[in-house]
Parts: sequence; structure tokens; C-alpha cells
Amino acid sequence: MIKPEEGNKRVYFDHAATTAIHPEVMAVLVDALENNYGNPSSFYKEGNIAGRAMEQARTRIAETLGVKAEEIYFTSGGTESDNWAIKGAARMHNKKGKHLITSSIEHHAVLHSMEALEKEGYEVTYLEVDADGLVDPEDLRAAIRPDTILVSIMYANNEIGTIQPIEELAKICQEHKILFHSDAVQALGAVPLRPSDLGVDLMSFSGHKLYGPKGIGILYKRRGTRIAPLVDGGAQERKQRGGTENVPAIMAFAKAIELAYSDLEEEGERQIKLRDRLIREIPKIVSHAKLNGHPTRRLPNNVNFSFEFIEGESILLLLDAFGYACSSGSACTSASLDPSHVLLAIGLPHEVAHGSLRISLGRENTDADVDRFLEDLPKVIQRLRDMSPLYDDYINDKIEALIPQEGGNRLVREGGYGL
Ligand code: PLP
Repeated sequence: MIKPEEGNKRVYFDHAATTAIHPEVMAVLVDALENNYGNPSSFYKEGNIAGRAMEQARTRIAETLGVKAEEIYFTSGGTESDNWAIKGAARMHNKKGKHLITSSIEHHAVLHSMEALEKEGYEVTYLEVDADGLVDPEDLRAAIRPDTILVSIMYANNEIGTIQPIEELAKICQEHKILFHSDAVQALGAVPLRPSDLGVDLMSFSGHKLYGPKGIGILYKRRGTRIAPLVDGGAQERKQRGGTENVPAIMAFAKAIELAYSDLEEEGERQIKLRDRLIREIPKIVSHAKLNGHPTRRLPNNVNFSFEFIEGESILLLLDAFGYACSSGSACTSASLDPSHVLLAIGLPHEVAHGSLRISLGRENTDADVDRFLEDLPKVIQRLRDMSPLYDDYINDKIEALIPQEGGNRLVREGGYGL
């Protein structure tokens, strides 16, 4: 029986879900919560101080991202930015047409916004992706109709890390004078991204994926892009988004973006080394393991594998007992037992999609974390396969494997296997 290693520190491998606040970001946040509590809309000293701090943060973010300050709108997070971009664009331009295009692997903030619009009478085309999770620009071209008003394709996928050819997709939309939105929540702080170089009209960002606070986001809206407001209320954010601005979180978000961009390439290369070690080594030490997502066009921090014959949730639980925080590709966020729509969209059979694991690296992860994980993972997988009736059928030659064996050991039942 394997025993979880005792006394080992926790290893956090779920940075795509969220990140811990960077100490320097925390210092800005705490100071602002204490000292910068004024309402930026108030006409007295405290309000002016808060308003100035917020506009300075907006300017600093704009400078870092290479855009104009007036193109930055603060929201409550990535989900609101996606909802606003999609519903706002659709409702502003529905006189021209009611057709929208997206991909089948978007985050639910996009997919469910699209579904909500379908209920309002809009028509949505969901582009398929290839086995690596890439959208083919020619598919986009072919899907465009005279009544198409918006295309929304994510920059990088949150589950499998695949990075889309955004510039090419945006160019096609420009040629057809169609608005282009991209959810870049996973990409900000991970890759050197500048919205104005990409040719996008709308782009969504979130604070908590890059060591900033939760509950703060940005919608980048290129100058001249018109969309309807989503949150009705006061005159904040140039009358486009009602609600008293979260000034401390905005200031902290600015700091988080500056910190991320201060060593973006170095840190990216460091994480790519860790990522590629995991991608190289895991199939050597675990049998029937398959990498999901594009082998190279992927986020520096994303590793996603399917392990046949076992369930993602049980892998997570046992890894948790061993000290690791990871995520399952079959995440049942909706409390249903359906595997991830992303893994199904790249063509994985249900059985394979169910046994998936996402490891998302971050700034605090080291070579030592990867060493330890590579030692523990085969024990965890073997322990679960030992209990798996499917694996039993496989070793008794009753079923064929869907993922080839390649590396790792085929479990031998007789004589014990020491776990
Ligand atoms: N879009 C993507 C690609 C994401 O990964 C996430 C968060 O998981 C979101 C949108 C939602 O962002 P938030 O948690 O800030 O609402």
C-alpha cells in the first residue's frame, strides 16, 4: 500500500485555475485598502486621490500593453469581460446581422454567453478544432456570412494550453469588417502579448491568473469599437460600465501586470524547460499516457495528459494526498459526469478524456518540484490502475488499449508490485 509522503511541502501545480497574490502586489493591495478607500466619483480629497490612483493604474497598464489608456475598461473579471464583449457587440450590431462565430473549445464564459444569445434569436457557428486544438483560419473564412457580426476565439486554451493563430484570425475579420474578440485570460502574463499588434477589437483579461487579486478584470476595447454596456448603473468607466470601481484591486492589477512583463521572456523560458521535461518524461515512466494539446504552440506553463483506464478525479485526489494541487481534464464543474468539452473536441474518446490531468506551472515551481512529481506520479497511476476493472480487463487481454503503451511498466499482478 502506498502511503502519501509525510512532511513534504505542498506543490501547487494549478496556476491556470488561480495564483497566489505576489507579495509586492499584496503590499499595494493592502496599502490601498487601508489608505485609498475614497470613491473615485466623489468631489473631495479622498475621492480625488482614489480617482488619480485609478487613472495612473490605467495608464501604467496601457503603457505595458502598448495600448491607449482610454481603451482599458475595468470589470469584475474574465467572465464579465467575455460576457460584455460578446453580448455587448451582439446587441449593438444586430441591425447588421445576428450571426456569431466562436470555437468549440472556448471557456464557458464565452460558450454560455453564446448560448444565452442563441435564446435571444442569434445564430452561432461553433468552429471545430484539430487534434491539437487549433482552429483552422480557412474554417473561419468559410464560416463567415453576410450577417456575421462578431467572431470570438480564445488566445490560449485553459485546459490544453494550445495557442491560436490570433493575428491571422483577426486579419480575416478585419478584411470582412467583422468585430473580433479574444479571451486572453490565460495568456496575459504568460506570453508577450500586445493587443494592438494582434489586430483584435476586444480582448478579455483577469487579475487572478497572474498573481493579482480575484474579482478584477479588463476589457480592452480598441478605439472606435462600439458595444452596448452590460452592467447598467452610474457613469463609471466613461458611462460604459456602472458600479463603483474597485480601486485597490485595480492598483494591484497594474502592479501584477508590470511584474509579469518585467521578466516575461526569462520566466517563460524557465517554465518551458519545466513543462518540456514533464512532457518528455511522463510518457517514459507511465504507460498508456497521451499528451493533450499542441506539442509546441502551447502556454509555457501547461501540461495536460490522459492516462488510460483511470479517472481524472481519482488521480487528483491521490495526488492531493501526496501533496500536489493539480486539475482534472474531466473537471465536472457542472456537477455532471460529462468529460471536458475541450478534450472531446480534440477527438478523445470518453474513456480517455475521463482520465486526464492538467498540471499548470507557476513562478514558485522549481526543478525539485518536477523531480518529486516524476517520482510520485507513476506510483499514483499504478495504484489507481491496480484498482481499475478496465485495467484488469486490459492485462487479461479482454480489451485493447486506446493509447499505446510506449513507456512505463505493464502492471504484473502476481508476485506483488511493492506499492
Ligand atoms: N476565460 C478563461 C480562458 C479562463 O481560464 C477563465 C478562468 O478560469 C475565465 C475566462 C474566467 O475568468 P474569471 O475567473 O476572472 O472570471
